[in-house]
Formats: sequence, structure tokens, C-alpha cells
Amino acid sequence: MSHGATMEEKNYDVQEVVAVVDRDRYVREFRDVPTFEACCKQCPNYGNRWGCPPFDHDTLQDLLPYEKVKIIGVKITPHDEKLPLSQAQSLMRPEIERVNKRLLEMEREKGGLAFGFVGDCPYCNGAPCARLHGEPCRHPQVVRPSLEAFGFDIGKTTRELLGIEIQWSRDKRMPKFLTLVCGLFYNE
Ligand code: SF4
Repeated sequence: MSHGATMEEKNYDVQEVVAVVDRDRYVREFRDVPTFEACCKQCPNYGNRWGCPPFDHDTLQDLLPYEKVKIIGVKITPHDEKLPLSQAQSLMRPEIERVNKRLLEMEREKGGLAFGFVGDCPYCNGAPCARLHGEPCRHPQVVRPSLEAFGFDIGKTTRELLGIEIQWSRDKRMPKFLTLVCGLFYNE
């Protein structure tokens, strides 16, 4: 169900792990909207980014047209074990851009629904999100919610489907590796 591939990049290594599961199972066993929406409410992006909750409809309806979900985990291991956590965003940015592009290509090819990454939206170059002014997203063709935003448990997903135990930072140091998780709902 899963496979891995290692690539050598600038100052970090990247490993991808992929799992394919039935949508029914993923929704039944890995989705808990009240719990994860409560986590999202602690984030300043809640209600302030178009990719983030709250959404104006029942998000389960967006998933029901699809039978499968492909989960992609991206493990980023810095070569320097003593990097400060403040460098995490710049370390992840090229990988986020690379995988986002691939997800959108997969979405176009398979006619599916892609899920990207949490965090600051990269498409308005730091300008305040249009949501703050009650206006529509300026780049809806590329903005996608994260799996967390739709209530999926990312820790359980990585542990049980990808065999990755997410590492946390200590003393403002980078953890041993950073983990990005994204996915695509689709039909075969
Ligand atoms: S692309 Fe711009 S308007 Fe759309 S969600 Fe991102 S920051 Fe907001």
C-alpha cells in the first residue's frame, strides 16, 4: 500500500511515502471535524484564509463523489541537525511549491479534489487575504484546503497509513525531520 523514494537535495533530504485508501474508510476512521476544527480555531488563519475553516457548507459533500484517496507524506530531513526552528518555513517552501504543483496536475489529470498544506497562503505575496474584506479568493484555481481543514487527523494518518511518527520541535530547534501531508480524492 505504500512506497518510499529518497532524493538528495540542497541542504536536506526528501523522502516521500504514498498510501492509497478507500474514501469510506478514510472518512470513517480518520475524520473528526469537531476535534480538529477546535484546533483550527486556535490558529490566526481560522476564518481569515479561504483555504481554512469555517466553510460555508458541509465539507463531507465535497468528498462523496470520490472513491479513493491518495495520501502523500513528504519527510524533510535537514543535513544540519542544529538548525533553529525559525528556518522551518524556508526549508519547506520549495517542497510545498513542488508538491502543490504536482497535486494540481494530478487533480487535472484524474478529475479529483486536491488537499494541500496548512500555513500561510503563498499566492498573494503577503497581501492580506481577500476573505478579510469579504471578497472572493483571488487565486481559486490553485488554493486548496488542507486535510486538517476538512477534519482529518494528520497524526493518525501518518502513523497508521504512512508509517511516519511526526517529530516535534524541542528548545526551538528543528525536529529530526519535518513532515508535510497532502492528498488527492479521486476515482480510478
Ligand atoms: S490566494 Fe490570496 S485571496 Fe486566496 S486564500 Fe490565498 S491569500 Fe486569500
